[in-house]
Amino acid sequence: MNKMDISYIINELAEDRENYYHAIAPPIIQSSNFAFKTVDEMRNAFADEYSTYLYSRGLNPTVDILRKKLAALDNAEDCLVFNSGAAAIFAAVLANVKSGDHIVSVNKPYTWAQKMFNEILPRFGVTTSYIDGRDIENFERAILPNTTVIYLESPNSWNYFIQDLKAVADLAAAENIVTIIDNSYCTPLYQKPIDFGIDLTLQSATKYIGGHSDTVAGVLSGSKKMMERIFNSEYMNIGSGISPFNAWLLIRGLRTLPMRLERITHTTLRVIQYLNQHPQVESVLFPFDESFPQYHLAKKQMTGACGLLTFIIKAEKIEQVEKFCNSLQHILMAVSWGGHESLIIPKCSGIPAKYFKAENKDHRMLRLYVGLEEPEYLIADLEQAFRKINS
Ligand SMILES: *Cc1c(COP(=O)(O)O)cnc(C)c1O
Repeated sequence: MNKMDISYIINELAEDRENYYHAIAPPIIQSSNFAFKTVDEMRNAFADEYSTYLYSRGLNPTVDILRKKLAALDNAEDCLVFNSGAAAIFAAVLANVKSGDHIVSVNKPYTWAQKMFNEILPRFGVTTSYIDGRDIENFERAILPNTTVIYLESPNSWNYFIQDLKAVADLAAAENIVTIIDNSYCTPLYQKPIDFGIDLTLQSATKYIGGHSDTVAGVLSGSKKMMERIFNSEYMNIGSGISPFNAWLLIRGLRTLPMRLERITHTTLRVIQYLNQHPQVESVLFPFDESFPQYHLAKKQMTGACGLLTFIIKAEKIEQVEKFCNSLQHILMAVSWGGHESLIIPKCSGIPAKYFKAENKDHRMLRLYVGLEEPEYLIADLEQAFRKINS
């Protein structure tokens, strides 16, 4: 497949403006259904809904503009857009397992992927083994005769553990196993898993694609054959396609995606420089930091790293971690990331306070998302919060 210019993809691809009065912004075709002139046309539509506008649980023209752009960014033949990243994960996995099958997943994938593996799929006789994906031998050892799916998340969005995508894709292809990756951290701008031979790449578009913390959505890209199969079953059956309005918001988000990532990348490096020299910081985890154990692999398969990093704060008591977070005045305490606003999540918010152990580094982890603010503004906020820890 020919690689298209990113400016063309974002500004022109799939925008047939003659069809809508040469409007610059595409229309939101907010219609649930589409009419036919003849019985024969209707018959053809029923026979092949994947290529006809019939009903908006299936195809919709506004959503199609977005699909074409996102597939091109992924270097994929096709993509489907869901009303959440979790729905994209669910459809991708469900489409490739049946009762009795086995999945190999990297340790600690996204929470709701884990819940699906641990709680939903076992009810239908599908089991999952978790492995440390940093070593290819762990994949080789975990594969069973009934393994049909390898599930990756690279980098992971807390510890940034990375898998060698080419090595995993080659191994899986030899064993006829479908590879799926959660590429939310990088977006297709900073990592194109399909170029390494991965079958299905997905991302939460809620994050960088939307970019404004106002839309929940997910993208799944792959071969036309696979996408058509998923469209005709899981996608239509679960009914979790994105709405035309949310698709329109994502098209709008895409217009500024490259410049937002560029800006965030730059600001993140400044914030990391600041954190790395801070006496109250034990260490910083970030895939493009030279101290990162998998730095070379990160550089080999990713063309960038954006605004998500984790730092380990020095503290003897949970109160100190809490004091730091509670003292932030501009950086908001909230889940998610990829929007305009900087965010923080203390790992200790996920455990009962009485279980906090200062010896456990993980309990002192803070995940910071660097947004579109000025670097000085964020650094000043962090600095005043650090000063309050021991006051
Ligand atoms: C947010 C997120 C998801 C889930 O996406 P939603 O749009 O929230 O459903 C999946 N994977 C990762 C890594 C995420 O950060």
